[in-house]
Amino acid sequence: MTRRIASTLAQTGRPHGSGITSVNPPLVRASTFVFDKLEDFEIASKTPFDVPFYGRVGTPTTFAFEEAMAELEGAHRSIATSSGVSAISAVLLAFLQQGDHLLVVDTVYEPVRRFCSRMLTRMDVETTFYDPAIGAGIADLIRPETKLIYLESPGSGTFDVQDIPAIVAAAKAAGIHTAIDNTWATPLLYRPLEHGVDVSIHAATKYIVGHSDAMLGVISTNAETYDAVRRASQDLGACAGIEECNLGLRGLRTLQVRLERHAATGLVLAEWLAAQPQIARVLHPALPSCPGHAHWKRDFDGAAGLFSVELTSRDPQAKRAFIDALEMFKIGFSWGGYESLVLPMNPAARELSRWQELGPVVRLQVGLEDPQDLLEDLQQALAKLPG
Ligand SMILES: *Cc1c(COP(=O)(O)O)cnc(C)c1O
Repeated sequence: MTRRIASTLAQTGRPHGSGITSVNPPLVRASTFVFDKLEDFEIASKTPFDVPFYGRVGTPTTFAFEEAMAELEGAHRSIATSSGVSAISAVLLAFLQQGDHLLVVDTVYEPVRRFCSRMLTRMDVETTFYDPAIGAGIADLIRPETKLIYLESPGSGTFDVQDIPAIVAAAKAAGIHTAIDNTWATPLLYRPLEHGVDVSIHAATKYIVGHSDAMLGVISTNAETYDAVRRASQDLGACAGIEECNLGLRGLRTLQVRLERHAATGLVLAEWLAAQPQIARVLHPALPSCPGHAHWKRDFDGAAGLFSVELTSRDPQAKRAFIDALEMFKIGFSWGGYESLVLPMNPAARELSRWQELGPVVRLQVGLEDPQDLLEDLQQALAKLPG
């Protein structure tokens, strides 16, 4: 029986078996698993991943989270890592070596840009940052030594939605692998592997954990890329903690109901903000004012509750006044938790010149508070700005 997504979220990654069975998998904290007979040790070492059975590979708690993510992503397998960034670095290092070339979207999560400019440059891997609106034009940037196209859609901060099918088609025509940061969409709104992307990455730290109390990453791969990515993540040693895997699994149970509320409130606020004179533009994938909105409409099953606004006033004090006046939206990195957050963005630091044209950009993570309270908070903060 194929089950629908809400059922999968409730049923996946649970203990199987008869007799006394807890609802949730037990937390197995272990570096070491012990055996009496060498033969048993040798058999166990071949499962489940053909790597020695040792805590760095994971424990049954890790495997339960990985199994759940693989089912949700429609993946061959998933690999839990210590953070979103560790997941991304493992993927980049799995595909790249000295002399290679990498294409990365210019709206990429900023620490990934730093990984490229510091680590990868040192390894003599060259990165070209491309326009998120490039679509099929990506073919012109592919060189003989290009090994990977890295996507993030919607992009960090300005939420530009990429034409993923066009980029995947160009990559396949050239025999190049693709990897995507799918954190914003979660597997509920977009499943990249079903669209031909080889690897999908999540900062599970965000919506999947959902309560701002753990760092966790997860990589989902197709059958062809699994071995290379698993090897790289093992070589880096950045294994996920057991408590964190348990929190990731727990987060999945409520992911759909939380996301629906984040999305509904987010859309109400985004539409209200779009009508205010202090706001020049709302960068929310579900609104036509967002670059790539048509791609979002074509490819995604819904919106999340994270978006940005571009202020009308170019006065740097206006951005400061708006952010400082907010009471329910606390200033903080990260997102995806139950609480609302605000963060100033700096797209002008990007490579491509068109970001210079944007006014001050402020990102909003819409939490699970009452929508009307959040709207009133934005209203009183905007009232402190010139119209
Ligand atoms: C936060 C974030 C990451 C990094 O995840 P960490 O768990 O903080 O390392 C990667 N991609 C996106 C889009 C993010 O927002």
